[in-house]
Amino acid sequence: MFLAVEDYPRDLRELEARFSTEAACREYLFQLRWPDGFRCPRCGETKSWPKGDGLVRCAGCDYQISVTAGTVFQDSRLPLTLWFRAVWWVASQKNGVSAMGLQRVLGLKSYKTAWRLLHKLRRAMVRPGRDRLSGRVEVDEALVGGEEEGVHGRQRQTKARIAVAAEEDGTGIGRIRMRCIPDASADSLMPFVEDYVEPGSVVHTDGWLGYLPLKGRGYRHEVTFLKGNSKSASELMPRVYLAVALLKRWLMGTHQGGVSLEHLNAYLDEFTFRFDRRKSRSRGKLFYRLLEQAVAVEPVPYKSLVKCSGDQDF
Ligand SMILES: [Zn+2]
Repeated sequence: MFLAVEDYPRDLRELEARFSTEAACREYLFQLRWPDGFRCPRCGETKSWPKGDGLVRCAGCDYQISVTAGTVFQDSRLPLTLWFRAVWWVASQKNGVSAMGLQRVLGLKSYKTAWRLLHKLRRAMVRPGRDRLSGRVEVDEALVGGEEEGVHGRQRQTKARIAVAAEEDGTGIGRIRMRCIPDASADSLMPFVEDYVEPGSVVHTDGWLGYLPLKGRGYRHEVTFLKGNSKSASELMPRVYLAVALLKRWLMGTHQGGVSLEHLNAYLDEFTFRFDRRKSRSRGKLFYRLLEQAVAVEPVPYKSLVKCSGDQDF
């Protein structure tokens, strides 16, 4: 009766054949949302009746719930068949798609619709309650954005400061986390580390004062001083440097640099989602994961609390 474990289309043809109707899409979302079977959020009853229009009715208390309520598909006027195609393109392209690219491939009339759709999907790229990084983790800050413009008398904000954490995996990189931070003070850096790195881990940073409180927060702090060191910063923090270089290339490549600072956190989430799954060979599996996370009800999305400063496009 329920989905076989990780049941997903293998290619575009399978997707088109399988999800050609709203009912087929809804059925799939239903099974992703309640993998162990329906459970009424109100009375706990496990029996339900389909009501049409994407609603199910609880057999215990008559409560009606939409399979898309509380998910990224809530309140969308776009058909689910279109959403599924969008998710397919986002998941199947190694570097993702720009809003313009998606507009073209889906034949959407409006650029704004494509942009909003992508933006909503980025919300699904952060798994609620995802694990924190652990083991040995490099942490550093970086500036992301275009070149500073020489504007006289007025400071134009064209760059955003981000904090980056990269897990060591032998000589390679494990998982990463990135987030905008208002400045490089301890007040900004400590919450970042605490949100994304498991206490007890070794946190490897440069000698910046903002990292000094780490020891008192339950981390093992390893410091490499850049000053007076014959090695360059990229050699001393190779994983963070590589992650940032790839991020910049992705922003310039896939998105042609057309990302506003205001929305940068969402792009950082997308980049992280792709980076952490870069070794996954199956694109269909990414499609499955993304839809699975899209129907997972997210309590308070963290990024709604933290905004990037700056308002200039870069
Ligand atoms: Zn009920």
